[in-house]
Amino acid sequence: MAKAQETILEIDLSALTHNFNYLKSKLQPQTKFLAVVKAFAYGSDSIEVAKHLETLDVDYFAVAYANEGVNLRDAGITTPILVLHPQPINFKTIIERCLEPSIYSARILNEFIKVAKANSQTNYPVHIKFNTGLNRLGFWENDIDYIVSQLNETKSIVAKSLFSHLAASEDLKEVEFTNSQIKKFEHIAKEFENKIGYKPWVHLCNTSGIINYPNAHLDMVRSGIGLYGFGNSALEDKNLKPIASLKSIISQIHNIDKDESVGYNRAYKSQGFETIATIPIGHADGINRIYGNGKGFVFINEIKVPIIGNVCMDMIMVNVTGVDCKEGDEVIVFNFKNKASVLAESANTISYEILTSISQRVKRIYLAD
Ligand SMILES: *Cc1c(COP(=O)(O)O)cnc(C)c1O
Repeated sequence: MAKAQETILEIDLSALTHNFNYLKSKLQPQTKFLAVVKAFAYGSDSIEVAKHLETLDVDYFAVAYANEGVNLRDAGITTPILVLHPQPINFKTIIERCLEPSIYSARILNEFIKVAKANSQTNYPVHIKFNTGLNRLGFWENDIDYIVSQLNETKSIVAKSLFSHLAASEDLKEVEFTNSQIKKFEHIAKEFENKIGYKPWVHLCNTSGIINYPNAHLDMVRSGIGLYGFGNSALEDKNLKPIASLKSIISQIHNIDKDESVGYNRAYKSQGFETIATIPIGHADGINRIYGNGKGFVFINEIKVPIIGNVCMDMIMVNVTGVDCKEGDEVIVFNFKNKASVLAESANTISYEILTSISQRVKRIYLAD
């Protein structure tokens, strides 16, 4: 692997294959696999990731917003795409680009039926979302009669699946709550099937659901973070491989005296004679200001060094006093060994947030499978 000569996000497609196969190995052979590729495939690259997952015969994709699905279609992705959080203004586009909406409220149901009808659709596939305790999006159980009556009145759309989302599948202190969500969803699904007279697919589990609730895999699972190499637990992190490595380079080294300051607002003051390295990555690249002032860190020649002072838009400064390094040396922000989840913890956040923060400015490099 060549050393980074500028800030890059290296995406290892063989790690993606590994994670996909590992998660699939947890499933019954008939259980379908939906890959969640929203938010640029969790900050990596939704197009390259989706193309690679198509070669692995993934069954479905999901994105959050319609324009993310349009980007995948523009890139030639032909696998079905579920749009988790569409708005009526997107419905015409959704139909034109063969995207499949999540229908999460009466407003959304009625608007989508209207647009499907106006566009002469029959049996357009939609996915009915139920709220079972996350209290974010979704119909309630007592909406079933209404949904069924609306579906029975139209030929324009058909319920391809019913789904819900777990609130705390990674938290083993919340097993009882999660089991109550599973029960509630199974009850909703049965009632819906009885009333509509056919069996839409049912799906509930995200990555931690796949791992912790093998009895709730149902017809399909929806995995995001696991594909990208994080399992929300020390144990599962061992079985998965982070696909993205964020790397940079030392642009310049300064030797400074005691009581000098570093960076904007003079936020850091040197304790003595110190060596400071400047790295071309900043908050515009996704290293948020919260990582400044000693919270966050990077690795230089395997040594962990703290970010000092305030994070700038395009730069950070790190304290390399006593570290064997020189201008041009590679800098690891995170990789398969020094994990993004650990850096995230330093700022009280989670792998999801640091990964999805990596901005589009950072050049993506792909390692082939
Ligand atoms: C983002 C999302 C997922 C993926 O969750 P992970 O924890 O990343 O596996 C699954 N389902 C829904 C509805 C989501 O919004």
